Amino acid sequence: MANKDVVLVIDDDRVDREILKTILSNDYYVVEAQDGQEGFDFLARHEQEVKCVIVDIYMPVLDGYGFLNKINEHGLKIPVIVTTSDSGEETQVKVLAEGAWDFIVKPYNADIVKLRVQNAIMRTEFFAFKKLKYIAEYDTLTGIFNKDKFLKKTRIMLDNNRDKQFVFIRFDIDRFQLVNSFYGVNEGDRFIKYIAMGLENLANQRNNLTYGRIEADVFALCGEYESEEEVFELIEKHVEVIKSYNRNFDIVPNFGVYFLDDLTLSPNVMLDRATLAAKTCKGNYIDTIGVFKPEMSARLEKEQEIVNEMVQALQDEQFIVYLQPKYSLETNAPAGAEALVRWMHPEKGMISPGLFIPVFEKNGFIERLDHYVWEVICKYLRKWIDEGLKPNPISVNISRVDLYNPGIVDFIIGLVDKYNVPHELFQLELTETAYMDNPQVMKQVVSGLKENGFTVMMDDFGSGYSSLSILKEVEVDVLKIDMRFFDSSGNDGRSENIIASVVRMAKWLGMPAVAEGVEKAEQVNFLGSVGCEYVQGFYFARPMPIDEYEKLAKENKEKTVSKIVDATGVLTMDKLWSSAPEMEILFSNSVQASAICEFDGNKFTYLRTNNAYKVLFGADGVSEGNPLDYIFYEYKNDVLEAFNNAVDNDEFVECQYQRRVQQGKALWVSMKLQFIGKIGGEKSIFIANLADVTMQKEVENELRKLKKVMNGDKNKPKKLLVVDDSELSSRIIKDIFSDSYEVILTKNGLEGLNQLKEYKNEVAVVLLDMVMPVMDGREFLERKNSDEDISDIPVVVISSESDEGLQVDMLQMGVNDYITKPFVAEIIERRVKNVIDYNERFRRMVKEYQNMSKD
Ligand code: C2E
Ligand code: CA
Ligand code: CA
Repeated sequence: MANKDVVLVIDDDRVDREILKTILSNDYYVVEAQDGQEGFDFLARHEQEVKCVIVDIYMPVLDGYGFLNKINEHGLKIPVIVTTSDSGEETQVKVLAEGAWDFIVKPYNADIVKLRVQNAIMRTEFFAFKKLKYIAEYDTLTGIFNKDKFLKKTRIMLDNNRDKQFVFIRFDIDRFQLVNSFYGVNEGDRFIKYIAMGLENLANQRNNLTYGRIEADVFALCGEYESEEEVFELIEKHVEVIKSYNRNFDIVPNFGVYFLDDLTLSPNVMLDRATLAAKTCKGNYIDTIGVFKPEMSARLEKEQEIVNEMVQALQDEQFIVYLQPKYSLETNAPAGAEALVRWMHPEKGMISPGLFIPVFEKNGFIERLDHYVWEVICKYLRKWIDEGLKPNPISVNISRVDLYNPGIVDFIIGLVDKYNVPHELFQLELTETAYMDNPQVMKQVVSGLKENGFTVMMDDFGSGYSSLSILKEVEVDVLKIDMRFFDSSGNDGRSENIIASVVRMAKWLGMPAVAEGVEKAEQVNFLGSVGCEYVQGFYFARPMPIDEYEKLAKENKEKTVSKIVDATGVLTMDKLWSSAPEMEILFSNSVQASAICEFDGNKFTYLRTNNAYKVLFGADGVSEGNPLDYIFYEYKNDVLEAFNNAVDNDEFVECQYQRRVQQGKALWVSMKLQFIGKIGGEKSIFIANLADVTMQKEVENELRKLKKVMNGDKNKPKKLLVVDDSELSSRIIKDIFSDSYEVILTKNGLEGLNQLKEYKNEVAVVLLDMVMPVMDGREFLERKNSDEDISDIPVVVISSESDEGLQVDMLQMGVNDYITKPFVAEIIERRVKNVIDYNERFRRMVKEYQNMSKD
């Protein structure tokens, strides 16, 4: 019986059974029974398979009523359609009262039978599940398979083609979140859909290929291949397709390729391996394809070993804290140290943090390890103070994972206070990339720590992408620059320039800089020459056991400086540009539209804008003249106010405005202003970061709309809309339903449509007449169906036209039921309630499903 739904026909008349079988057997698998008892017995055994029952009323042994009774007693929820040659209203009422879903009159009209059966099945929970199943199997944004379904399909494909070669590919877009944050979520979604379409096209050209969306910007496919070259060519073509979406986006797809050596592996493992391979090329512009090698798998096993042993290792104190001194370039003496953890494994020897920290970050264990390290440091600081030493501050690392603990600041305070250690001795290093993960959280943690007297350092500054704008967003005290990120080999001193400008910028912002990874004397000289205050690196000292550090610190005791140099760079325009042309490199390379501007209290001008600014607005801002001329009048005051606030505020001050651009439509712009300093009396200098937020504004509107819909959803729809020009029938309908519904009466399709739009979230069902002035029922339906906002609201047609052709038409147009006038109150009541019940059940299921998939 393959995939056809089963329909059970119960009738003692063989000819009638045959007729139904002929009508239905194209679309359904028809099972016959001769009386109610036989039918019930079959149903009891095949409840899952039978999707609809058609039952005659008058039969020997057990008649139609008896059958309905019996399935009610047993709680079977299967739609039952009753058929009889007796079209009398009494019978209909009685049958519906017994719980039948629908009623068909003999002799049969083939189309009506088909549609009524289809309608009944659609109203069942089974069908609702089918819809839900769609939601569960397909990615709702792109319409392609989701992860689960894709993996299942892949399994089946591989099982059916054991003799062929397959490749499993996984890809994502590097730094996809930048697309979202610069161009808006809508644009991000559009891009994702575009990628999915590309995959669909690819699949259409090939045999044996499955594909799906794994999550966010991650996609995967598995397909048959001839040669490895062919696969790489294909990927390159596909990369071009993706990139051609928008050449302004800095799109770098990352591919992980796994040529399957074992088709029986679980597709989940294949995905893991392809993911592993993709990681080998992360962040590398040239090398966008990583190929899986068995060694990688060995690494996975090593990782697993680490995971298996970590808890015991912590208990057994196998984790040892090392300290690496930081030196002041002014005094050449140690000025503090960074705590770096080591794993002294009893059998494997020392394991480097580079191996286990990423694993712990993945599984969350890092939090426990970090707490351990912090406590060790607190104990030592306490001990040194007790010994009468004046210890230098020690910095510890905070992992990105630690930031997700909302109580982190309180935890640190509690820990440090437990050992009664002055807060300024316990410093914290936070890596810049954590900011990309979650700017809001990072900002909060940093300011929470600072408010409580802790010094916070931005670790690995320059490794991320947000360099310029991050500096005042997150108000850290100290900048750590890793020399190893600026490999100076063969780029004409450009890295030196960048490092110099970073150090200088830090000074302007009143932040001391620590250079780490310093290995050579030349580097030390260079850093001294550009005014870097602190250095850390193998040139001075490697990370060392704490007792060694103690010795070192005691030797240098007299010379140590623990005060952080207060950098007071006086800002002049001159210094801003002419003495620091390197600054421009940093500025120009920023992906964010940025500008330096001058404000005199009443107007502002752009002194300098970067490339990204030009890309965004199509002009350089400087030659455009007075910006207030092209900012929409109603926002001018907001903008001026923002400048004034920024002067007082010392933080980024944001304003949003609409402006004209030379070509194209008006843009919504977000401008974040940061005051840098006063220049020549009245004028102030600012850094402005600008972004096109037109898309966000649109998204916000969408969301507002959506929220309205959701709110409307909370209360069950309580309105019932009647579209009927006959006063009499309108009144009767009102009588029937006014106890449980608020009945809205309208006299023609047009009025009805207007009311439906107005109350779209509150209308439970529409009762529609066919023949009306101004706009008839058919046009009403057409318009309703083409309006997404209201197309889902159920409609029951109540018409005096008993023409079967019309009935067929209407059912085909998606009408939920069709009742002919003159009507009997009970029939209408039953049928309308049926429709409403179904709809509510479906809503509920969708909700439950959505809640379920949120976890
Ligand atoms: P990081 O915080 O950037 O630490 C600096 C790393 O650079 C350390 O590597 C240090 O030994 C190394 N280093 C310092 N000077 C030089 C130099 O002149 N040349 C070279 N080639 N390397 C130098 P390490 O100890 O292997 O730690 C690696 C990373 O592991 C750290 O990077 C940090 O992110 C993480 N880590 C280490 N200990 C902890 C910890 O207790 N907690 C957390 N959350 N992360 C830690
Ligand atoms: Ca660090
Ligand atoms: Ca670092």
